[in-house]
Amino acid sequence: MKAVQLVAWHSDPALVEVDVPTAGPGQVVLKVAGAGLCHSDLHLLHDFANGMFPWGPPFTLGHENSGWVHQVGAGVEGLSIGQPVAVFGPWGCGHCAACDRGQDTYCHAPTDSYGSAFGGGLGVDGGQAEFMLVPDARFLVPIPDALDPVAAAPLTDAGLTPYHAVKMSLPKLMPGSTALCIGVGGLGHMGVQFIKALSSANIIAMDLKDEALALATACGADLTIRGDAEDAVAQVKEATGGRGADVVIDFVGLDATLAQAAACAKVQGDMTIVGVGGGSFPMSLFSPPYECNVRSIYWGTRSELGEVLALAAKGLITPEYSTYSLDQALDAYAAMEAGKLKGRAVIVP
Ligand code: NAD
Ligand code: ZN
Ligand code: ZN
Repeated sequence: MKAVQLVAWHSDPALVEVDVPTAGPGQVVLKVAGAGLCHSDLHLLHDFANGMFPWGPPFTLGHENSGWVHQVGAGVEGLSIGQPVAVFGPWGCGHCAACDRGQDTYCHAPTDSYGSAFGGGLGVDGGQAEFMLVPDARFLVPIPDALDPVAAAPLTDAGLTPYHAVKMSLPKLMPGSTALCIGVGGLGHMGVQFIKALSSANIIAMDLKDEALALATACGADLTIRGDAEDAVAQVKEATGGRGADVVIDFVGLDATLAQAAACAKVQGDMTIVGVGGGSFPMSLFSPPYECNVRSIYWGTRSELGEVLALAAKGLITPEYSTYSLDQALDAYAAMEAGKLKGRAVIVP
């Protein structure tokens, strides 16, 4: 079958032929419905190197995946052939306290997991192929009838990660509050939608691209600001009566956006770092403001993935994406690299 693989660090993805996987005991093979491209794939291709992780290439890319159950291994119960499922992407050991609460992202024994990898598409074979091996049926979440299985793919990361960020900040998203999303691409445009669906907070979106800001407006942002405007921070302050935003989520993570995030956050607000931009920012007694919670997050929990799918099935959130065949996958990567995507790109084999 065809698969899009990372064959060596610091290289472009390649379309290759690989064997169709078979399910061993406890495992499931999916016929892939959709496999999203994430900006993190670009970090994988260009920024990482030998020795940084206990795993490395070659492996099939694609860590936001959905599909139909194609084959189940011995002992797998509760799944039927042809059933549409979403893949919970972070694969932990399955028996530590973090995995127990569905939070494989923070597994206590990550080297006990599959090939010590972070998950499919992140060290072992992912979903950018015709079929995908899922090493444990517990990583599958049923897709509600009302939801297109292709749309479920980007929801497993571009949906789940901002949902986790927004959910952690919900107590601060009171009526009259303000949330700022910096970087409204694949993840950020979903972040805006989750804030809109779960709260009545005013939403400000910041990006360098007018098209991304237009998408944010369509997703429910009340105000959009060009991040490269000299007075970008002043505009946020003005829109918030000088106080700043109660919740700031940085989906970029560069020096510049982290500085903006810290400058825009409110006293006792939340500043959450999601973007893997590699930046840092100076922290002192006065900045970010007093009692502002600063945290970084990684992906979300298994039960939260079910909540994201339920919100989408009700039509309360809708991922924006364009589809590409496996043969067009390298064009999709080029479009992402050039910043030309609207929302997400999803490979539909
Ligand atoms: P994307 O390319 O789809 O979107 C990024 C957006 O940020 C674009 O609209 C771009 O114009 C905008 N942007 C870039 N520089 C900016 C700046 N200086 N100011 C304002 N806007 C700017 O990327 P994505 O797939 O949404 O991923 C976003 C980031 O989140 C990436 O770094 C990715 O690796 C990371 N990520 C983190 C997690 C996690 O668990 N922490 C999960 C998935 C992705
Ligand atoms: Zn990702
Ligand atoms: Zn674990």
